[in-house]
Amino acid sequence: MRITGLIFNVQRYCIHDGPGIRTTVFMKKCPLRCLWCANPEAIKGIPEILYYQNRCNKCYRCLDACIHGAISVPSYGEFVTIDRNICERCEDHMCITSCDQDALKLAGRLISVQELMEEVKKDNIFYRNSDGGITVSGGEPTSQPQFTLEFLKRCKEEGLHTTLDTCGYTSWNLMKEILKYTDLILYDIKHMDSTRHKELTGVPNHLILRNLETIFTKTKIPTIIRIPIISEHNDSRDNMEATARYLKKIGATEVNLLPYHRLGIEKYQRLGMDYPLGTDIQPPNETYLEEIETIFTSYGLNCLRVY
Ligand code: SF4
Ligand code: SF4
Repeated sequence: MRITGLIFNVQRYCIHDGPGIRTTVFMKKCPLRCLWCANPEAIKGIPEILYYQNRCNKCYRCLDACIHGAISVPSYGEFVTIDRNICERCEDHMCITSCDQDALKLAGRLISVQELMEEVKKDNIFYRNSDGGITVSGGEPTSQPQFTLEFLKRCKEEGLHTTLDTCGYTSWNLMKEILKYTDLILYDIKHMDSTRHKELTGVPNHLILRNLETIFTKTKIPTIIRIPIISEHNDSRDNMEATARYLKKIGATEVNLLPYHRLGIEKYQRLGMDYPLGTDIQPPNETYLEEIETIFTSYGLNCLRVY
């Protein structure tokens, strides 16, 4: 059976998504709605049009190309707008092919496991020379469980090291199958208070924590906990302390801190979306990050910062 998945990027030469040099496959679809998400093009499980206003020369060829009338211009001389409720996401994407400025791009392509294997195997030599491998990220890879499982399985058959970067919000039955072909887990923890977790991500944290505890009790797969540090949202000393205490209790040893950055903001504009976190939030400062690191190391956890 030809299993296909919807991905939005295959990034080569990654050095922060697991050991060595890696190729990271970014999959579409995510059950969470984190306010700070830096990959908004990953959230929906459908292909989406990105509009790069800075490249657009206002030739308006795309208006004529879109037979569904999804593209319009408020008045001559202004930038175009895409009505995403009208857009049919038609397969030939005439809007994109009509644009010779590269101002319209598609986020999301269907790919088979076989095609993806051929793509990632191109960098075999880098994986082998650096003890690197393949990372599946997103979005949330477990949102396309069959594809993720088959892809990781094929990677293992090829002798490649595999890393699953997950938010943990999935059924254990699905997760445990995927973990059969996973060498390393990068597991996100966003807030210890479930009510606050739901305000920040759209879902409570019970399932996420339960799955993490099951990973530590039922598997021996090395697991690195990844914590986004979002100023004024989850970075309070109380929450950091509670997270460190919890991680120590369940047997975690490795923590990565992911300080908030604003690099994703432009992507929201390209997708015609509002930036849900608002533009006032600043990245955490160095002194406070050092304090947070001290909290985790005081619980005996190895703590690294990842940007
Ligand atoms: S075809 Fe491209 S450059 Fe021309 S108006 Fe449309 S997006 Fe802009
Ligand atoms: S994908 Fe199709 S419907 Fe959507 S804007 Fe492009 S041409 Fe129009």
